[in-house]
Amino acid sequence: MKKHLLFLGAPGAGKGTQAQLLSQNNSYLHLSTGELLRKEIEMNTYLGRTVKDIINRGELVSDELVLKIVRHNLEKENKGWILDGYPRNLSQANSLNEVLLELKQPLDVVFYLDIPEEVLIKRLLLRGRKDDTEETIRTRVNIYKKTTEPLIQYFKDLSLLEYINADRDLKTISYEIKQKMA
Ligand code: ADP
Repeated sequence: MKKHLLFLGAPGAGKGTQAQLLSQNNSYLHLSTGELLRKEIEMNTYLGRTVKDIINRGELVSDELVLKIVRHNLEKENKGWILDGYPRNLSQANSLNEVLLELKQPLDVVFYLDIPEEVLIKRLLLRGRKDDTEETIRTRVNIYKKTTEPLIQYFKDLSLLEYINADRDLKTISYEIKQKMA
């Protein structure tokens, strides 16, 4: 059974939904950098105030800051973990690699949720989160294409990539992921 998982895909591809389902079923830690940052904003912490404007513009928070959050959470005792929303660029992928070597917790699989751009834009507009306005979505999708998409090839080269067609209903997708986890 694979226990160190990563979800890759555009905003709105369904990473959060699938990662949450899977983490509940397996008692794995669900580590969503976006979710953690949003909580900090909600609680109006120092960190939250630092990242609020960046997130609401749809831009990326600094690599250093998200790395700290990720390291802190992975150091905790857990049965397994699912990374969602991290890494988002090559520099973050390299940092993650170093942390995982240090912690002796090698990545087992990367699920790449693939979805056509027009479908994800529709999904995001329906979701209506605070950072889901039309302009912010455009920024996020552009950043995704430019900086995150190259990670598909990066993980393919490491023979870790599992392709998932994410333009299907939730249950079909989670069934396929479950099979590929065995
Ligand atoms: P989505 O999957 O819809 O893009 P997330 O919840 O993953 O949403 O992320 C929301 C926002 O949080 C991002 O637009 C970005 O500003 C910030 N964020 C999340 N993860 C990272 C990361 N790894 N590096 C930098 N910024 C991040």
